[in-house]
Amino acid sequence: MVKPDGVQRGLVGEIIGRFEKRGYKLVGLKMCAPGQQHLEQHYEDLKEKSFFPGLIKYMNSGPVVGMVWEGLDAVKTGRSILGATNPLQSAPGTIRGDFALAVGRNVCHGSDTVENAQKEINLWFGKEGVTKWAHHSDAWVHEK
Ligand code: UDP
Ligand code: MG
Repeated sequence: MVKPDGVQRGLVGEIIGRFEKRGYKLVGLKMCAPGQQHLEQHYEDLKEKSFFPGLIKYMNSGPVVGMVWEGLDAVKTGRSILGATNPLQSAPGTIRGDFALAVGRNVCHGSDTVENAQKEINLWFGKEGVTKWAHHSDAWVHEK
């Protein structure tokens, strides 16, 4: 997901492009501003953290762009494309390492486990679902 700062800073195309160019297939995409309750549900694992109120305020400060990417090891490799949670510790070449400085303005979100990805896809794309399609480059990106 591109967070509100990423949207405001014009990074939507850049972030989508990095996943596309790596070889991942886009199967879900939407801009929305789902509101506080939805965002609290999205981050419910963090509700006891001291930064939680600030995080929800930040996430609720503008529209976000949610996406679902499909491909080999998408969750783990997706997280490495994003970089470390704290951008100061993110390697150059990662999204956060190239475009962010502060942990509370780190421009993007990525699911951390396959199980959480499933939950988040359901929360954000449950109604419309994702779109299955055959990419013409599939055989050039994957061995099978
Ligand atoms: N966050 C924060 N302060 C912290 C840790 C996290 O503001 O000390 C924010 C930050 O925007 C982060 C989000 O809370 O992306 C969710 O935290 P998590 O530990 O799940 O990091 P992520 O999975 O996004 O790397
Ligand atoms: Mg997380």
